[in-house]
Amino acid sequence: MTFNVKYMSEQQIERDALGLLNAYFHDLGQPIHLPIPADEILETHLGLSLDFDDLQALLGVPDVLGALWADKREVFIDQSLEPDEHPEMEGRYYFSVGHEIGHWRLHRQYLRNADGQVTMFTDSEPKPTVICRTSQAKERVEWQADYFSSCFLMPRQCVLGAWSNHFGSLKPIVYADIAEQNWTQRPTRHGMKPVGMILRNVIEQSFEPHAYVFETVAREFAPMFRVSIQAMRIRLDKLGLLRIDHPLKRDLSGGY
Ligand SMILES: [Zn+2]
Repeated sequence: MTFNVKYMSEQQIERDALGLLNAYFHDLGQPIHLPIPADEILETHLGLSLDFDDLQALLGVPDVLGALWADKREVFIDQSLEPDEHPEMEGRYYFSVGHEIGHWRLHRQYLRNADGQVTMFTDSEPKPTVICRTSQAKERVEWQADYFSSCFLMPRQCVLGAWSNHFGSLKPIVYADIAEQNWTQRPTRHGMKPVGMILRNVIEQSFEPHAYVFETVAREFAPMFRVSIQAMRIRLDKLGLLRIDHPLKRDLSGGY
């Protein structure tokens, strides 16, 4: 179940996420610090309830990770993400909570309308106003909530600060530099035939060799933000700290 929402720029979404963090930590009289207590903010600052349930059974749809009942101010996260029972899912749990906060902050004006329609046609318990399914992650409404969660759990200044502490500067990691070093060490480089180059391209595209490098870096930072390695990698990529190539080289080759 998705619905249409208006376009919002990444900057608008990030500003809203930061605004919520500033408000919460201002009330505490503390600076923003990690990890972001998304569940605490949802319950105590925003006044929504948070619980777990078997959402697939409850709602009768597969791949559902979270749901929001806007009229009742209730958020449910699927029990498969319950962090005490499934510690390995902790990152995805917090990301899902941040995602539901994103719906609450960005999409409430749409949810009121959805409420009215749903309650008119159901005799039993009203259905949730948002059902979050992984298969619908590319829908605009879901993408916006995901991006909100990313900015909320991994605030830009905190990520830049962590990077700088770890590497001693804000210089990005560029995969092309690492790959170049590896290839120049190969004795057959100058004798490479076209078919070899074709194969090399195919292999690189198939296995995404940069993925291994990027995941290794993201693994260093994910625990302090209490997010998954994948979410951390996406955020580092978005902030320009992980790059496949130099921007200038990309422009000269015609761009892609
Ligand atoms: Zn969602």
